[in-house]
Amino acid sequence: MALADRDALLDAARTARGHAYAPYSGFTMGAAVRTERGDIVPGTLVENVSLGLAMCAERVALFATATADDRPTAIALVSRRTNGELTFPCGACLQVALELGGPDVAVVVADPDGAIAESTVGELLPRGPHRP
Ligand SMILES: [Zn+2]
Repeated sequence: MALADRDALLDAARTARGHAYAPYSGFTMGAAVRTERGDIVPGTLVENVSLGLAMCAERVALFATATADDRPTAIALVSRRTNGELTFPCGACLQVALELGGPDVAVVVADPDGAIAESTVGELLPRGPHRP
């Protein structure tokens, strides 16, 4: 991913993280999707007192991308680390990204200190079922 594209996507994810509704976990997360048309679609974590109703920031952004009749080409996630490691999207979010964008969707993650790692949906979910 080009550096300017990556930075713009991470900036949008950082802003979305600031809007996270996470009163139960306090684990604020923000995401942003770059779409095939070139738009940036943000998403934020939304928790609920009925815990099973929570939705990851990445899927919020991915569903909004589908709502706009567009497809993801990259997704950024900004959150604090998990067990000392940069936090990557969960399996459910990777599966949704795989369905909507395929294995080549770029994934970039960052922590609040600016450490960054990049991958792809296909690398992170190598055997996920998807349309050819
Ligand atoms: Zn997730």
